[in-house]
Amino acid sequence: MRKKVILICENCLSRNYETTLPEGLTSRFEIKKYCPKCKRHTIHKESK
Ligand SMILES: [Zn+2]
Repeated sequence: MRKKVILICENCLSRNYETTLPEGLTSRFEIKKYCPKCKRHTIHKESK
């Protein structure tokens, strides 16, 4: 069972995406995704 996380825009902190973490992840997950609020691609990080 993989852990579900919410991805939060680093810029405006809105909760834009839900995903599962990749297998064998060692560091904090972050990914560049489109943020509708910022209207551009920003770094999204898992919520804690
Ligand atoms: Zn944003």
